[in-house]
Amino acid sequence: MPGAGVTVVVVPPATANGPLHVGHLSGPYLAADIAARAARARGERVVTTAGFDVHQNWVLTRAEKEGVDVEKMAAAYRDEIIGALDAARIRYDVFLDPQSAGYQRGVTTLAADLTEAGRFPLRTITLLACEDCGRTLHQSYVVGTCSGCGSEAAGGGCEGCGGYTAADNLIDALCNRCGGKPKPFEATVPVLSLEDYREELIDIWLRAELPGRARQIVTHYLEQRLPDVPIAYPTNWGLEGTGPHDGLRLEVYAEVGLSTVYGVAQSLRPGAVGLEETSRALAEVGSWWHFNGIDNGFYFTLFWPAMYVACGVPRDGIGGAQVNEFYTLDGAKFSTSRNHAIWANDFLRDEDVDIVRLYLAWDRPDRYASDFTVASYREFEEQVRPLLDGALRVPAMASVLAEADVRRGLAALRLRGFDPALAVRSLLIGLAAKVPGTDELLSILTGR
Ligand SMILES: [Zn+2]
Ligand SMILES: [Zn+2]
Repeated sequence: MPGAGVTVVVVPPATANGPLHVGHLSGPYLAADIAARAARARGERVVTTAGFDVHQNWVLTRAEKEGVDVEKMAAAYRDEIIGALDAARIRYDVFLDPQSAGYQRGVTTLAADLTEAGRFPLRTITLLACEDCGRTLHQSYVVGTCSGCGSEAAGGGCEGCGGYTAADNLIDALCNRCGGKPKPFEATVPVLSLEDYREELIDIWLRAELPGRARQIVTHYLEQRLPDVPIAYPTNWGLEGTGPHDGLRLEVYAEVGLSTVYGVAQSLRPGAVGLEETSRALAEVGSWWHFNGIDNGFYFTLFWPAMYVACGVPRDGIGGAQVNEFYTLDGAKFSTSRNHAIWANDFLRDEDVDIVRLYLAWDRPDRYASDFTVASYREFEEQVRPLLDGALRVPAMASVLAEADVRRGLAALRLRGFDPALAVRSLLIGLAAKVPGTDELLSILTGR
């Protein structure tokens, strides 16, 4: 029966090419923490993941642009990311550290076993490299126009539509480093052929929870042949493969999926390595939930679920995805490169963490995009601070109604129908009326 086993809450690892900003916190990180705390409070057995990611070539690109040592830069951002999660009281059971030997062995062994088992078969395919600088065009190395929505996009995912972008499906693809033209070359690489998982994916999304916009991504891809996605390439950056993947480096989105599987399996059965032991550990999964931004739509709706099924996650165990839209700052997109951001570490150091968590849960762009302004944050603080201190500032709702509202707030923190903004509104009513149940809601939402 779904729900009887372990509840898994997955947050994608933070890329070590910049510190976390308030937009990141408002997206997957804080929401997943609140959902996991609420599940634990209901008595569920929960495994949560967090981590950082150094193998996106965006990390190398940033270091090259700044002329700094990539290892040192990644280590500094890793420390800042861990510091921000800690300051925000975001807790996790599994921390995925791609620089640890256990992680590297676990992930590359699992990938190799999947090829041996025929689930990531080796195929000779045509890839593209830059004809001037020679690099294999993927992720940050390639730029072009998304064939799905017309937005400018790099390799990986399109921020405009959440679709899959790669050098061979971007229109007018060029090298993003030197402007060179793509030149085809042949390579034998492992591939995840999503078409082989069509039936499983349909079955998953007939029952699992997904917001409308993400569901449109699934529909769009199911209307055509599902793509074959290379799991590793010959390239200069990424985790080095082993066995049948010798001489190749893992595609980073494959690494993210496999490392999540590896980390969850480790938490359920410490020491589990390889496909067989991993599959056995994953049989304990009752419901598996993703927290993601819509720009990763292709990956959390199609690519990772297919990979999870290939690794042994029961297909009726995929619970669904809680998805956020973009959070803007004063009307413009948060941007690390343009320094248009409020950095999480600074903000959490200067502000009351209770208020930060409550505000971001209240204002997060979960059902539609929303906009952060300091003025709005201050208004919220002014309203809510006295309530947290036990001082009445608003006329209290009748106790019987306030109690019902607090119960509704707790129910809104179930993974299915997860609605932390509603829970904060219920909390404010409960605080004003001082009714039972308010403390539990407060403790889950603030992480205290
Ligand atoms: Zn180039
Ligand atoms: Zn697009």
